[in-house]
Amino acid sequence: MTETMNEATTDPTCIFCRIAAGSIPATVVARNHQAMAFRDLNPQAPSHILVIPLRHVDSLASADNPCEVGGALALAAEVAEAEGLGEGGYRVVTNIGRDGGQTVQHLHFHVLGGRQLHWPPG
Ligand code: 5GP
Ligand code: ZN
Repeated sequence: MTETMNEATTDPTCIFCRIAAGSIPATVVARNHQAMAFRDLNPQAPSHILVIPLRHVDSLASADNPCEVGGALALAAEVAEAEGLGEGGYRVVTNIGRDGGQTVQHLHFHVLGGRQLHWPPG
C-alpha cells in the first residue's frame, strides 16, 4: 500500500471499489453511509450477500477504522434480517489472506444463510 493509498478512498484496479462506484454492475440490496451490500456472483447458499466498506481496505487485517468495520457489520445484520434469515440463523464471515481463502483484496463480509451451514467450514 502506497502513501497515496493510505489517503485514498478508492483503488481503480479493485473490483469491489468499482462495484462501489457503480462502474461494474452488481445486485445491490442495501447501503449505508459507510458500506454497501450486494449479491455474490457465485452464491454458496440460497442467500449469499457481500458487505463491503465503500472505502478501499485490503482486509480486516489492515482495517484501521472501527466505525467503518462496525458499520459494515451492522449492515450485514440488517441485510440478513431483510433476507428473512433472522429466525433460522445465518453466518457472517470474512476471509483474510492466502490461508483464509481471500480472493478479492477489498474487505468484505460474506452473509450466508438459507440452508444448514456446516462447522468447521473447512
Ligand atoms: P473471498 O474469496 O475473497 O472471500 O470472496 C470473494 C467473493 O467475491 C467470492 O465469493 C466471489 O464469488 C465474489 N465475487 C468475485 N467477483 C465478483 C463480482 O464481480 N461481483 C460479485 N457480485 N461477486 C464477486
Ligand atoms: Zn477496493
